[in-house]
Amino acid sequence: MTSTALDLPTWLDPNWARLQQMLAQQRLPHGMVLGGLPGLGKRQLAEALLARLICQTPQHGHACGQCKSCLLRLAGSHPDIKRLEPEDEGKAILVDSVRKLQPWLAATAQQGGAKVVLIEPANELNVNAANALLKNLEEPGRDTYFLLLHHWPKPLLATVRSRCQGQDVLPPELEQGTTWLAAQQPDASDTDLSQVMHMAHGAPLLALRYLQQAAPALRHQTLVDLTALLRNQTSVAQVAETWVKAPVKQVLDWWLQWLQDLIKLKQTQDPNTVLNQDVVKLLQAVARKTDMPTIFALYDEVLQALNSLNQRRNINQQLMLEQLLYRWYQLI
Ligand SMILES: [Zn+2]
Repeated sequence: MTSTALDLPTWLDPNWARLQQMLAQQRLPHGMVLGGLPGLGKRQLAEALLARLICQTPQHGHACGQCKSCLLRLAGSHPDIKRLEPEDEGKAILVDSVRKLQPWLAATAQQGGAKVVLIEPANELNVNAANALLKNLEEPGRDTYFLLLHHWPKPLLATVRSRCQGQDVLPPELEQGTTWLAAQQPDASDTDLSQVMHMAHGAPLLALRYLQQAAPALRHQTLVDLTALLRNQTSVAQVAETWVKAPVKQVLDWWLQWLQDLIKLKQTQDPNTVLNQDVVKLLQAVARKTDMPTIFALYDEVLQALNSLNQRRNINQQLMLEQLLYRWYQLI
């Protein structure tokens, strides 16, 4: 079984294999620092390891996902798992948080297995917090494990680092990373993929976040384009040219949703029935000037276009978009 069984991205396979080997040889350190740039899956790796350590009946080196310990973990209520994090995002982990952990560290595991502390990000431990933790790292207790996530390039206190073993999580080859990203976002164009991979310095999870964040801006632009067309502020050809370079399926999907809203609005005359409330004004303006059969006809055409794209038929997208946009332009 490979790490894909746990949905770990493939570039983490070497890391996972090394951790498996350490476990098999019973030489997993009690303090383990997983270090690397943001967006490489350090947390996923740590979670998979934590799950494996906590599981009562591991299967092929992975947490089973079914035993009592796994179920408690999945419910977020396992008594032998602690997460040491900043109280506010982006702030330091303070000494109070470490002090609060001490009675728990001194007690035996409630489920009779391992106790695991996940520290994220370990580079946010301030000096006092780190000092309060040093003794625990030196004498962790037989079945207690500290998993520390170190986000490069921020420094990790040397006192902490020297009491742990480290494993670096490295970026995948550009091609491997881009292939993974493309599988997560099938609608993204090659240009988008290479652009965000570049922005993320080759860290695919960070690149994915960039892509997802761009979605709201793109949706807004799509709306702006459709409005401008109705106001004669742009041309059908110009909008089609822009859309061809965008994730076309996503754009058509939004448009289809708005047309559904337009149909509802036309039927009920009630703006509250519109799901996408930010387009109500535009839809009301269109609804006043057109009839139901025309809207239905356009809806069908957009739906068909989307189906053709989904079936990856070889179509002239520019021409297809121009035809659809011309129909839209004619609505009012
Ligand atoms: Zn289990």
